[in-house]
Amino acid sequence: MPQKFAVPKEWEAELAAVAKAIVAPGKGILAADESTGTIGKRFAPIGVANVEENRRAYRDLLFSAGKEIGQYLGGAILFEETLFQKTADGKPFAKVLEDNGVVVGIKVDKGTVVLPGTEDETTTTGLDGMAERCQKYYAAGARFAKWRSVLKIDPKKGQPTQLAVDENANVLARYAAICQANRLVPIVEPEILMDGDHDLEVAMDATEKVLAAVYKKLSDHHVYLEGTLLKPNMVCPGQDCPKKYTPQDIALATVTVLRRTVPPAVPGITFLSGGQSEEEATVHLDAINRVPVPKPWALTFSYGRALQATVLNVWKGKQENVAAAQKALVVRAKANGEAAKGEYAGSVAGGSAGQSLYVKDYKY
Ligand code: 13P
Repeated sequence: MPQKFAVPKEWEAELAAVAKAIVAPGKGILAADESTGTIGKRFAPIGVANVEENRRAYRDLLFSAGKEIGQYLGGAILFEETLFQKTADGKPFAKVLEDNGVVVGIKVDKGTVVLPGTEDETTTTGLDGMAERCQKYYAAGARFAKWRSVLKIDPKKGQPTQLAVDENANVLARYAAICQANRLVPIVEPEILMDGDHDLEVAMDATEKVLAAVYKKLSDHHVYLEGTLLKPNMVCPGQDCPKKYTPQDIALATVTVLRRTVPPAVPGITFLSGGQSEEEATVHLDAINRVPVPKPWALTFSYGRALQATVLNVWKGKQENVAAAQKALVVRAKANGEAAKGEYAGSVAGGSAGQSLYVKDYKY
């Protein structure tokens, strides 16, 4: 009988187990996979030079934050450079994470390019040579991967256009199939940006359209859903929408769209923070988990900015601030771990936790 899925039969159970472990109850993902350019944008406001040693030192701070972090993090996503770096005393980062029970992930996409003929809509590049890279990453300890596609909402321009939806769904499915054929769990990330003044209903429609297209393509490309995770945007109104919504409105919109589009075979949905403040991202995740309807997947976090904003502000590149910055990471991770169970009791805000992290037309 021909093979049914992109993943060889003998790896199905392994991939399903990895995906499940990453989203175990009360756990989520630290997205620390900023490309060299993006981490430079994070370092600039705190006066840290974007050189390899500073990037290493910062990731050392994150991954060496202590055993407790393993209670709240099921996975951490790394940039390629980081996967091959070590702590100050010579231990590979992958080993540090593994020893804390955190599964190692790797960003495999090579960033976005404009789709010619569109008004600045994009597709994501990185399929060429990806199979070989996946094998190298697996050997270095990676067990899951991430690929980010980006879509925009602009009703006046008819965006997201059908072309952008189809193209990004297809490239995400190609990526996912290649990951599984090479023993990595793919995180499928179709991010719809928060740019714009559209309301919650418009965001619901766009997210439903995008996710429906993604799951059709994943099926067409023989992707084994039990061995995948989805990383979507929460369904939020546009950043400039004059109408205000409660966390409960956003939670209900998000869960409604996910229930209409994501098969129960998918073990977990790990939201990106997308420019929400640290506290908003936690409160929204908590509200999502409290929506009183059946939710057949784990609903948790895969935050970059909403886990690292305070950490960066406390650290400022100074050795004497490392312990305090690590403490700030544990505080945020714990809050999100509670939110992933719908048990967040409220504000651990402080420092920069309430500050908006929104950047127009964000490039990761
Ligand atoms: P944010 O949480 O900062 O949106 O990033 C998550 C991520 O990994 C985007 O690809």
